[in-house]
Amino acid sequence: MSESQQDIRKLTLEQLQDYFTSNGQAPFRAKQVYEWLWKKSAKDFDDMTNLSLSVREKLKADFIIKQMEVDTMQRSTDGTIKNALQLHDGLRVESVLIPTKKRITACISSQVGCSLDCHFCATARLKKMRNLDPDEIYDQVVTIHEQSMEYHHRPLTNIVYMGMGEPLLNYHNVLASIEKITSPKGLGMSPKRITLSTVGLAKMIRKLADDTVKFNLAVSLHSAIDRTRSEIMPINLKNPIADLQASLEYWYKLTKRRVTFEYVIWKGINDDEEHLSALVKLCKRVPTKVNLIQYNSIDDPRFEQASAEKVDMYVQGLTDSRIVAKVRRSRGQDIDAACGQLANKSVVN
Ligand code: SAH
Repeated sequence: MSESQQDIRKLTLEQLQDYFTSNGQAPFRAKQVYEWLWKKSAKDFDDMTNLSLSVREKLKADFIIKQMEVDTMQRSTDGTIKNALQLHDGLRVESVLIPTKKRITACISSQVGCSLDCHFCATARLKKMRNLDPDEIYDQVVTIHEQSMEYHHRPLTNIVYMGMGEPLLNYHNVLASIEKITSPKGLGMSPKRITLSTVGLAKMIRKLADDTVKFNLAVSLHSAIDRTRSEIMPINLKNPIADLQASLEYWYKLTKRRVTFEYVIWKGINDDEEHLSALVKLCKRVPTKVNLIQYNSIDDPRFEQASAEKVDMYVQGLTDSRIVAKVRRSRGQDIDAACGQLANKSVVN
């Protein structure tokens, strides 16, 4: 790529229109190119067959379409696929395709590494290198959709921002990627099929509500007691549960959409009545459903999945209080593709 060549996907539709007008071309060309880029996910200017050869040559001279490459792809016995994706600057992120009978879900990353320090999460062991750009987030979705068609013969149906990184610390790019994924000028997917998972940054959750986003919100709670949460998730020290609760009440007031709490139960950490009743109390204040996630070991002796009896105790306690609780089976564990296991094991960043 030469110095003068710009990444075309950094341009807005308006900027593309300006480009064509200033080159003596009709502005509707911009709409065509935009659709090739964001609706049809074109990887090459030569794919843009409704443009004349001379327009394509001019575009090739002025721009590039930055691409990521699938560096390694691993397939689990349960159909889960994990990708290590190489970005244009050589850094890598991971994304996962999770098939079920009804759905194909893409679990995508928002940052290279992570700046948070959740003690039970493998990604926390990588330092944060940089935020992903909107096109890099979008490309993960396209890659997984293509793999879904190839290996599962059905389209991608859902997206979860639950891969590497904290999406609310890359707010602008994450929302820009969702715009490209949901807009009729882009992939046209329903925002109801998208879930953003956050460690629970209160200020940013309020911002999401103010920005009237239409996608779903999940919060990695793991404990409704500050003492425990701060110990395993240091972010809780600056962002305590009272603030989180207030931000979720605000979210619900503005969006009327229930939040999902993600919650792992660990032996000796949160597997007792005290933690259960704190969770029930919080769920009564904020309309929620609770996903009880199985712990995926990251080889840290402090953390061990709680017993089946303790998980049942939670399910019973929550259900008795009319809170929807589901136990989530882990997927793709054999290839380290499950929640919290994304750590670029196969590669060195
Ligand atoms: N930063 C975001 C998204 C990435 S983590 C967030 O915190 O939500 C995606 C989910 O995996 C979170 O709910 C996280 O708490 C959970 N998780 C992390 N490590 C895990 C592990 N070892 N086992 C099971 N779930 C884990």
